[in-house]
Amino acid sequence: MTRQKRVLVCGAGGFIGTHLVARLKSEGCHVLGVDLKYPEFSESQADAFEIGDLRSPSVCERVVSDDVDEIYQLAADMGGAGFVFTGDNDAQIMHNSALINLNMLEAARLKRCPKIFYASSACIYPEHNQTDPENPRCEEDSAYPAAPDSEYGWEKLFSERLYLSYARNYDMGVAIGRYHNVFGPLGTWRGGREKAPAALCRKVCETQTGEIEVWGDGRQTRSFLYVDECVEGTLKLMRSGHGAPLNIGSDEMISINDLAKLIIEISGKTVAIRNVPGPEGVRGRNSDNQRISQTLGWAPTQPLRKGLSETYGWIEEQVNMPGAVPHSAA
Ligand code: NAD
Repeated sequence: MTRQKRVLVCGAGGFIGTHLVARLKSEGCHVLGVDLKYPEFSESQADAFEIGDLRSPSVCERVVSDDVDEIYQLAADMGGAGFVFTGDNDAQIMHNSALINLNMLEAARLKRCPKIFYASSACIYPEHNQTDPENPRCEEDSAYPAAPDSEYGWEKLFSERLYLSYARNYDMGVAIGRYHNVFGPLGTWRGGREKAPAALCRKVCETQTGEIEVWGDGRQTRSFLYVDECVEGTLKLMRSGHGAPLNIGSDEMISINDLAKLIIEISGKTVAIRNVPGPEGVRGRNSDNQRISQTLGWAPTQPLRKGLSETYGWIEEQVNMPGAVPHSAA
């Protein structure tokens, strides 16, 4: 009989972690999840779930078992534009996430874990390559010379280098995915840490005035990756021999106003858009999928509309749930 693969998912109470745990379970792995909190919107499917603070070295050492085969390190202090780009949370973001990565990687080394995945971000790419909303540059090699637009991005870049150093000096197996705007059901949809697709779905669901506010002039561009494809790309990268950072994102670029229009269309409602000043990040960003296609023979292809329909349906259910508090009153 083949031995059941033993996997640790850090950040298993978060959005992508919840989906990753479910996928690993469906493949027959034994999964231990760890997080500061349980998943907010569903039961975790992990075999075991530890509530623990990964900023503590002793917690990291405790959750990494001697026989662990793979670690997925997704835990981070993060949020949407409203959390990352105001500057108010910079020290917290850098301190907390750097500690998690330093401690988890060291615990993985001490326990001789064969392979660890690190969830990096498109936020590591230089701001000056993302000023033209029609032609952002995000191919992997454009990360240097570095100039991310947020401290969140700088911490991710530092941690990428930390993982690469461990791979180089300690012969550890490391995989690094640069996620680009992941969305889908079971993601944060209110409270200030939600991303644009979830925030816009909620606004369209909740509007009483037939109007929604969209931050910025609405011409800033992004691409959005459905969470199932994010998990697929993560596993494909982890199981490849590729050690350098790789984009895991959609290359279907859309302006934020067009995203709002698509969501309005999906809702079947008549809703007007009002652009208002607000944190918006870089002017343009899109995943460059040339390298992932070449190295993994795979890239995300699901149309944005499909994932948005799933997500809108799920957020509509949340909004209409008995006892749900309208965002304006929350
Ligand atoms: P999330 O916030 O839902 O999940 C992160 C989890 O980490 C949370 O459940 C949080 O409680 C946990 N965590 C934070 N501090 C911790 C600590 N000290 N100890 C233990 N757990 C702690 O975020 P997500 O969207 O699931 O993202 C997962 C990873 O992917 C993160 O590292 C994030 O930076 C990265 N990423 C996500 C996106 C995206 O669009 N969602 C884009 C780029 C990168």
